[in-house]
Amino acid sequence: MANDDIHPVAKGQSRGFSLDYAPAPESASVVSIADEYGLFIDGEFAEPESGELFATVSPATEERLSMVASGGVGDVDRAVGAARRAYDGVWGPMPGRERAKYLFRIARQLQERAREFAVLETLDGGKPIKESRDVDIPLAAAHFFYYAGWADKLEYAFPGRDVAPRGVAGQIIPWNFPMMMLAWKVAPALAAGNTVVLKPAETTPLTALLFARLLQDVGLPPGVVNIVTGAGPTGEALVDHPGVDKLAFTGSTAVGKRIQKVALARGVPVTLELGGKAAHIVFEDAAIDQAVEGVINGIYFNQGHVCCAGSRLLVQESIAESFVDRLKRRLATVRVGDPLDKNTDVGAINSSRQLARITELVEVGVAEGAELYQPDCGLPDRGFFFRPTILSHVEQTHRIAREEVFGPVLSVLTFRTPEEAVAKANNTPYGLSAGIWTEKGSKILWMADRLDAGIVWANTYNQFDPASPFGGYKESGFGREGGMHGLAPYLSAAPTGGRS
Ligand code: ADP
Repeated sequence: MANDDIHPVAKGQSRGFSLDYAPAPESASVVSIADEYGLFIDGEFAEPESGELFATVSPATEERLSMVASGGVGDVDRAVGAARRAYDGVWGPMPGRERAKYLFRIARQLQERAREFAVLETLDGGKPIKESRDVDIPLAAAHFFYYAGWADKLEYAFPGRDVAPRGVAGQIIPWNFPMMMLAWKVAPALAAGNTVVLKPAETTPLTALLFARLLQDVGLPPGVVNIVTGAGPTGEALVDHPGVDKLAFTGSTAVGKRIQKVALARGVPVTLELGGKAAHIVFEDAAIDQAVEGVINGIYFNQGHVCCAGSRLLVQESIAESFVDRLKRRLATVRVGDPLDKNTDVGAINSSRQLARITELVEVGVAEGAELYQPDCGLPDRGFFFRPTILSHVEQTHRIAREEVFGPVLSVLTFRTPEEAVAKANNTPYGLSAGIWTEKGSKILWMADRLDAGIVWANTYNQFDPASPFGGYKESGFGREGGMHGLAPYLSAAPTGGRS
């Protein structure tokens, strides 16, 4: 009996050796979602002053999951007030070794409840369960473990300096890695002795609200972390609040620029982690099969909703045609669909708005002369889905080569020499990340020295570790998250003895 008779081949997949995957859905019964959520202020869930709520939907089904409070100016004021009281009364004076115990507790709870967090992350955001289960939640827990370790050792991180927390940190995070971004922001802030007002993104608020419950369970003193949900205006209210001592933002470059202006005018320290348009550079001497996997992972991981995504493939001209052929063959095997299915590689686009932007930019790319390839995979009838896409013959002047798509779309450009690769890679307003594939170590070092990118991966891509600093240059922002460097923005440091 042929394989095809046992496993019906999915529509559009080539016949022959292709085995179809039986559905392997993760059960959603592990999470319980309330009909409505208030704001998490001073250790309690509270009604928003305005009484306004907004819906959060599952991008994979378009079904409403819950109604969530929209925080206004008065709500932000209450949250900042609670954070200030907690800073002055409890968290600021608390010895680092005591703060560390809370951070360790949070980390352990995240591990214990990892399945619940992963399923909720996938339901609310649309990312494949295998990513939220194997990447997002474990890394979020790892960040809390890592920074718990620093809480009582801050003087060793900054030798010769007297360090002090800044006070109340206002933090705004995006929707692409909701729990990971929360951990990147909250863990170092708390370890350094600050209190927090966090605003999650409006399309993915649910895991932050589950995190609020977790904080109640671990007995974190009220007001140390406050979570104010809402959209742009809620974020603006936080940025504008005079009681905030430090701002941290991850999101679009346009919003980041606005926040920078306000922060500068008010003299508040700010860190910005903004967009990217990474060059993923493949030389003819690279291990080609590994490079194909790396490029696929670099752009289609998390539907390409990744600021450091390898969205511009720069491939050496001598191998360009065969490399792109291999990419297409590999892309045809990528499974697109239900994010809760454990076999899914590419899940749902986070929102209809983002889907419209991706669709528009791909249309522009084709109109400007790029050649479009999309595998003939079926897409679910409902939900926000987009076929993983390769645009080849892209020119540097094309919008698709210059603008961040934040979707599963790879633009292919070519180069002949390392110098040309560097020039093309750096020909972007962004400077977050880059990837290099070559078997020559000296070429990696030569390239890495010249690339304007905060992170350069060599013969791999999308590697994250809490001990490793992450951040950009140019319009990708400034400041680092992760590692010892990630503590610095949350501390003021004076030379030892310089503080009275
Ligand atoms: P995207 O366009 O990818 O959604 P944004 O930069 O708009 O990225 O969103 C990132 C985060 O910034 C979200 O939490 C969002 O609500 C918030 N945000 C949007 N506009 C503003 C603003 N003007 N001030 C502060 N925060 C904002």
